[in-house]
Amino acid sequence: MMGTTADIRRDNSLSIVRYISAVGTASRRELAEATGLSFATVAAISADLLTSGVLTASAPERNAVGRPTARLQLNGERGVFLALDIVEDHLEIATYDSGLRGLSRSRVQFERQFVAPDELLSVVRAAIRSQAEVNAPRTVIGIGVSAPGVVDPVTATWMLAPPWQWRQVTLADLADDVVDHADSDGAGRGGVGRYDATARHVALDNPQRMLATAELWSNPVRADQTFVVLSLGAHVTSGIAINGRLLRGRTNTAGQWGHSVLVAGGRPCHCGSYGCVETYLGAEGILRTLRDIDSDSPLLNNGDTTTAIEELARAVVTGDPVANKTVDRTGHYLGAAIASMVNLLNPDAVVLTGWIGELLGAYLLGRARTQIETCALDVPLRATMIELGRPSTDQVCLGAAAEALERSLIELSRERIASAGSAEVSNQLAEV
Ligand SMILES: [Zn+2]
Repeated sequence: MMGTTADIRRDNSLSIVRYISAVGTASRRELAEATGLSFATVAAISADLLTSGVLTASAPERNAVGRPTARLQLNGERGVFLALDIVEDHLEIATYDSGLRGLSRSRVQFERQFVAPDELLSVVRAAIRSQAEVNAPRTVIGIGVSAPGVVDPVTATWMLAPPWQWRQVTLADLADDVVDHADSDGAGRGGVGRYDATARHVALDNPQRMLATAELWSNPVRADQTFVVLSLGAHVTSGIAINGRLLRGRTNTAGQWGHSVLVAGGRPCHCGSYGCVETYLGAEGILRTLRDIDSDSPLLNNGDTTTAIEELARAVVTGDPVANKTVDRTGHYLGAAIASMVNLLNPDAVVLTGWIGELLGAYLLGRARTQIETCALDVPLRATMIELGRPSTDQVCLGAAAEALERSLIELSRERIASAGSAEVSNQLAEV
């Protein structure tokens, strides 16, 4: 479906802000070159973003041909974004300024099993309030929330929360206590009654999507790339962007790489299928491989799954033969699974992250190479960079903050259209 002119202008505006976020500072000419937009379009959109305070401009400097050139950057003084990462046993909460610079981060460990969603949500609300107080008097502009499972970002509804098997949990009102709903003239709106569900300031998505969003907002080469962020942990997922746009799929569940079949009729998976990627590359799957290699290995006696994988990583470094064989075999599986991604998507980059990716990624990718070269087609493989990503906890929070910033920009453009009057806006949009 073709977007409306307003959609195109909003997307162009997002491309400009995203690029500036990734590089730190850019001139209008650099923005035009990087985004493929005309200089006139960049100038018109950046004028709007300067007026609304999203960007600031440095004092003009003379360039090589003597023309004065101002450099644009994100305005970090506009307020803050809160980013939350809800995990099975804890909550990460981070604060970013409006230029997406991290200010603080803390963790709330869940001390008990939650029975009902309200129990978790009261912990989440308390953490949000506490962060908002810490950051006062800076305005909280928006909140980004990463939640595992199936989510509907449009209505901010957690459709399925696998750790607790909850369905249809609404997160849209999480921000109501703390997010500034004042109009640009400073007048309060008296609550959120004017908003429809899509305009509220909670940006909800799942962690794999947040990882891909963080790549888009922090790495300028990703702007128009097709790339996959593979996350190895207790669960195995992937966030995919096609030509610089997140791939969501019809039900926002695209990228369930962990439940694509790697071995037909292989190990049973909790999803009900057999031989899923996760049963070989997830934490439990790697320990299952270790057990298959040596069921008496002392590496199997290391308490919980996370500790066992950490011990396995240490044992690889010290040259333990069982640990090395386990990583060899896991690398073999990883190679086959990455090769499928390369053949299917023809990506510019495959980025490996997740806490297992951080612990074992360098070893796994080293051992995966032969299998990748055997299984991937030569032409797409030669065009693909396969690399280790940045720490995934940081990136999930950054992605959540970036999605909150995107939401606030969409809201700003909606307000601009509503307040400017249809005739004026039509004229302006026609210029784009
Ligand atoms: Zn599965």
